[in-house]
Amino acid sequence: MNFNHNQNEEIRIKDLRKNATYKTKLINEETYKKINWDKVQNENNLAKKGMLLNANLPVIKSEDSLIPVWDLRSYDFLLNNVIPYTVNPKLWIQGNLNLNVGLFKVTDNIYQVRGFDLANMTFVKGDSGWIVIDCLSSKETAEAAIDLVNDYFGEIPVSAVIITHSHEDHYGGILGVLGSFTKKDVKIYAPKNFIHSALEENVNAGVAMSRRGIYMFGVELPRDKKGQIDDGIGKRQSTGTVTFTQNLYEINEQYAEILVDGIKMEFQLALDTEAPSEMFVYIPSERSLCIAEDCNATLHNLLTLRGAKVRDAISWAKSLQNAIDLWGSKLTSVFGVHNWPRFGNKSCIEYLEKQRDLYQYINDQTLRLINKGHTIEEVGRMVKIPDSLSDEWYNSQFYGTVIHNAKAVYQRYLGWYNGNPVELNKLLPEESAKKYVEYMGGEDSVIEKARRSFLDGEYQWVAEVTKQVIYANPNNKDAKMLCADALEQLGYIAESGPWRNEYLMGAQELRYGIIPIKGEFISYDVLNNLPIEDVIYLLSIRIEGYKAGDLDYKINFIIPDREETASTEVKRGIFRYLNDSLAEDAAVTVTMPKEVLYNLATTNEKIDNSKILVEGDINKWNTFVSLIDRINHNFNIMTPVSK
Ligand SMILES: [Zn+2]
Repeated sequence: MNFNHNQNEEIRIKDLRKNATYKTKLINEETYKKINWDKVQNENNLAKKGMLLNANLPVIKSEDSLIPVWDLRSYDFLLNNVIPYTVNPKLWIQGNLNLNVGLFKVTDNIYQVRGFDLANMTFVKGDSGWIVIDCLSSKETAEAAIDLVNDYFGEIPVSAVIITHSHEDHYGGILGVLGSFTKKDVKIYAPKNFIHSALEENVNAGVAMSRRGIYMFGVELPRDKKGQIDDGIGKRQSTGTVTFTQNLYEINEQYAEILVDGIKMEFQLALDTEAPSEMFVYIPSERSLCIAEDCNATLHNLLTLRGAKVRDAISWAKSLQNAIDLWGSKLTSVFGVHNWPRFGNKSCIEYLEKQRDLYQYINDQTLRLINKGHTIEEVGRMVKIPDSLSDEWYNSQFYGTVIHNAKAVYQRYLGWYNGNPVELNKLLPEESAKKYVEYMGGEDSVIEKARRSFLDGEYQWVAEVTKQVIYANPNNKDAKMLCADALEQLGYIAESGPWRNEYLMGAQELRYGIIPIKGEFISYDVLNNLPIEDVIYLLSIRIEGYKAGDLDYKINFIIPDREETASTEVKRGIFRYLNDSLAEDAAVTVTMPKEVLYNLATTNEKIDNSKILVEGDINKWNTFVSLIDRINHNFNIMTPVSK
């Protein structure tokens, strides 16, 4: 069931969202009673400390659209002092803390812009200009952050850039930083394997990650007390232009001292932690440490819900220990690339240690339970965090949760199979659902019982059992509405922003259907920087292998505006890049502009053969093109995927 945006707007007017139930109210009241207000006050002081310019709630627009790429004004409802029962009170408070927005002083020579995107932009005074640490997600927000700094300090050029890690919310604005008033030959520093990691992480499974990301970040949810609130590390990514550059210097040593625009900086690699490519930066003259995204004002993810490779909790904890060993005795401040800094040696050390221990603890306890035979479902529920770690506000579960991180540890060590052969090759969910529902007395009987369970507050069970009815019969509206009601209450209780978003997006799609997204998951700029072998690989993973099973020939590609060639072959159902020269025995050679290649690799657009010069056997080319499977950016999540 699909609606276009206009229809959806009309349907949205009939707001089907429910209030918090009595049980949800009780749970949220209990959570409220347990809040340690001294800790909240401390976080609040830190989030406000050193504010030089209050940016209020900024709205940032691009040149070519009326829809802002960044709009914090839409979160002004969070400034209300009365916490609604439809939001976990801790998440509400975190949402409020993340609205401390503007330009902040960290030390005499270090400043941060916060609240201009999901992440922070940090400015260190160099001898000839600003050394910028991290670039936000998009060109537009990066430019706005630089403008804010210029408003306060007057125009000072950017003299160097440091990118802490390979995630888009830290590099996507790079051309916005460079495009402004910059020194010539600005050097950009990044950790080892940055380019490879940045390009690789979001590309090959990019379509699925984008679709799932809509759930995780609540992209299509309204921002209000029944909608999206916060993601713990900030609101969510801006929607402007993502940019990239390969013109950077990767730091390959585990520890390096570099003079950056006259300022001595010490770099420590923290590979395979929060990102595959990540590093910390210590600035001795300020006795201040940039801890990248390895410490935040929340528990982070060992596995992000939109999907990714599992992160290594042990490397994460070791890297933090490494930083303590290197600089712990000297530190007077620690700042991150999300949320707000810590001050004073004792607080800094305690912060680094307690964040370190949170990841180590989840890892070790999960392994203990794994070795007793507990399964992925069990470990998530069984790992309990002791008060000595959980009493810190910054160890709350606003982004990652203990449950899904423990499951991630299980996945890292043991994978998907729990060892019980009943689970080895299960029936498809649609097949088993039909049987369950039949055994349980039919759809109406299940729904009637589930309604009673809903009244008893068994929301997770109601969601599970109504899912069986939905999978047995995706047209059963009562089941969908009841499942939506149950997910919604789970969302209202969740401490984690992403969990809330997941539940509420699920409820929304069950009630209204899918809002189709535009079909772009890799920006033009990223494709332009992707090695041609990797662009071609995007085609490899779209070939309908079974149908291509009998083909056996080579295809040459010539891409004049990349000044590149590639030979490839399709054989035994695999489309494979061979090398960067033309094969003499190719059946067909195609010459096309890079844009046509990008469209071929990443969209469903019909190929315009007038833009392609085909030399050789055109039928073989057409056959190849006909075997490229369609991308579905809007695949079903709450109902069976259509085949
Ligand atoms: Zn980030």
